[in-house]
Amino acid sequence: RSALASKEEARDMISARTVSSDGFINLDHGDPTMFESYWRKMGDKCTVVIAGSDSLSYFAETKNLCWFLEPKLEEAIKGLHRAVGNAAADDHHVVVGTGSSQLILAALYALCPQDELKPVSVVSAVPYYSSYPEMTDFLRSGLYKWAGDAQTLDTDGPYIELVTSPNNPDGVTREAIVVNRGRGKLVHDLAYYWPQYTPISHPADYDVMLFTASKCTGHAGSRIGWALVRDKDVARKITKFIELSTIGVSKESQLRAAKVLGAISDSCQRSGPLEFDNFFECSKNLLAERWDKLRDVVKRSDIFSLPEYPLQHCLFTGEFTVAHPGNSSIMLKAITMNTLVVSLNRADPRPVCLMLVSFYEKNAAFAWMKCNESIEDCEKFLKEYKIQTRSGKRFGTDPKYVRFSMVSRDKEFNLLLQRLLAIQGRD
Ligand code: PMP
Repeated sequence: RSALASKEEARDMISARTVSSDGFINLDHGDPTMFESYWRKMGDKCTVVIAGSDSLSYFAETKNLCWFLEPKLEEAIKGLHRAVGNAAADDHHVVVGTGSSQLILAALYALCPQDELKPVSVVSAVPYYSSYPEMTDFLRSGLYKWAGDAQTLDTDGPYIELVTSPNNPDGVTREAIVVNRGRGKLVHDLAYYWPQYTPISHPADYDVMLFTASKCTGHAGSRIGWALVRDKDVARKITKFIELSTIGVSKESQLRAAKVLGAISDSCQRSGPLEFDNFFECSKNLLAERWDKLRDVVKRSDIFSLPEYPLQHCLFTGEFTVAHPGNSSIMLKAITMNTLVVSLNRADPRPVCLMLVSFYEKNAAFAWMKCNESIEDCEKFLKEYKIQTRSGKRFGTDPKYVRFSMVSRDKEFNLLLQRLLAIQGRD
């Protein structure tokens, strides 16, 4: 039998495990297995071969501020941000981490003043990513401590606000809550600021921005995240944290990430023969289809409700990529809901081309679902139907809410829909 057949069997066994032997579907984590189908179609195009003699050294580029960052990965990260237009990467230092989880802690370390007597308050607006309080207080650091909801922060002292946009769990586009009050610093966690999840409205240009391959390409197992950092000293401190905790980041992972990030950048280019289907379009379509199905099921229910998101325009289209040579004098003007006119400069506003932009709703990586008044604890309620979700309590809010993953494999997602439908017909 072919090696492919046994690979498929192994995959089925793994996927059977996510729907466990007692029939539970585990949608508690945002495990991005939905993306496997795209990468399977790509076959061996992203295979990376690493010889026994490769990558033995701790060091990648000793002249670089982040001395363990593989130059190929840096190039791929900057190229991808240029192609997508979601972050001003070229004016920032890149620091690689073992997932963006490691970089969150590294950023807290780097942004804390070293001469403070009391720990710096770390806040994020409710509902916040459930790992923030857990990771902030895990080692009981003397440098910083979790201080809860950014909306109720009550201190004149230094603080760090974690701004997650789009937000985990509810997918909302966010800005900082406590800007410029006291001595605040911001960390922008942009794990989900990619076109499959949300319209790309502008290139983000903040002081510290965190991204992760886990949510961008779905390669969570490679554990690659990156920070884009404006200030050299802050970038140096983030690098120091990683040096002290893990002496760098796996080179095998970095080289694999460089390959997949490069492949999805190429997949966005509209000119020339296409080797890959556009990754973001494929993923966005798949997620949008899932959201349509979920909304349809929830609409028929008097038990559950989902948030409504406003339509936003997205500048990520092939036309935009082609028409964006980095020329700051280019002028864009919206003339209809989905057409922009492009002129070369203000003095000569004659249109040189029209660009199509799409307006669309978010396709968040998680659903943030609310139960009606008769159900106090939505997580507990869904557990009775063998659906494992994460309670609103973990995100600093009401147990009437749950978060569940929208990026599982088809099998789990379809089972979820069936079970939600069955709940409605339960009487
Ligand atoms: N930030 C946010 C908002 C996340 O949702 C996650 C993953 N769930 C992370 C950071 C961490 O991702 P990773 O460590 O896999 O890069």
